[in-house]
Amino acid sequence: MHVILLGPPGVGKGTQGVLLADAMGWQRIVTGDLLRAAKSAGAPLGQEADRYMSAGELVPDQLIIDMVKEELAALPAGTGVLFDGFPRTEAQASAFSMMLQALGRAISHVVVLDAEDDVLTDRISGRRSCPTCGSVYNVALAPPRREGVCDNEGTPLVHRLDDSAETVQNRLSVYRRETEPLIAYYGGSKASVHYVRGDQEVGEVQAEVRSVLGLGA
Ligand code: AMP
Repeated sequence: MHVILLGPPGVGKGTQGVLLADAMGWQRIVTGDLLRAAKSAGAPLGQEADRYMSAGELVPDQLIIDMVKEELAALPAGTGVLFDGFPRTEAQASAFSMMLQALGRAISHVVVLDAEDDVLTDRISGRRSCPTCGSVYNVALAPPRREGVCDNEGTPLVHRLDDSAETVQNRLSVYRRETEPLIAYYGGSKASVHYVRGDQEVGEVQAEVRSVLGLGA
C-alpha cells in the first residue's frame, strides 16, 4: 500500500506516520527529515535547502523531486510506503505520479489530516524534537519522561528554528496556498482521499486513520 499523509504543519503527520509505519512494517519517506539530515551532514543539498526552510518557504521542486527519486529507487520491491510532507505542490505531485508509474507503484490512499490554525500554532509552539533520533515531543501534550531531554538517548531536545511564531504563520499560508489544492488533484485520481480530524487524541486519530485505510484496529 502507498499512502500520502497530507496536512498542515503541526497537525500530527509525523506522530501518526511513525505509529502507522511501525505497526504495518512500512517504509516512511519524510522529505522534511531528509532535508534536515542533509543539513546536519553538511551536504550541499542541506545547505541549499536551509535558506528556504528557515524562512518557512518551500524548497524548489526539482531538488525535492530528485531527492525522492533517489529514495524510491533504494526501496525494496513490494514494501508499503508512507509519504509525509511530500508532495507539496502540483508540480511535485505530477512528477511523483510519473516516477511511481515507472516503478510499477501507485498511490492507493491520501489521508488528509487537518485542524484549525490556532490549534496548529499552539501545538507547534510546544513542539520539541531530538536532534539525534528525530523523536518529536510536545511540552504540554506529549512531554518526555525527563524535562528537556529525549527518552531514547538523553539528548537535549531542541525547538526547531522554523517552529518560531513568525515562520509558522508563513508555513501555514504556504500550506493553504500551495499544498491544500492537492486534495482536489488526488480527488481526480485513482487514489481514495480520506479526511481525519487532527485535533483529537493521538490514539483516536490513529484509530480513524487505520479505519479509513481498511486496516482494522
Ligand atoms: P516539515 O518537516 O515537513 O514541516 O518540512 C520543513 C520544511 O522543509 C518545509 O517548511 C520546507 O521548507 C521544506 N520541505 C519539506 N518537504 C518539502 C517538499 N515536499 N517541498 C518543498 N519543501 C519541503
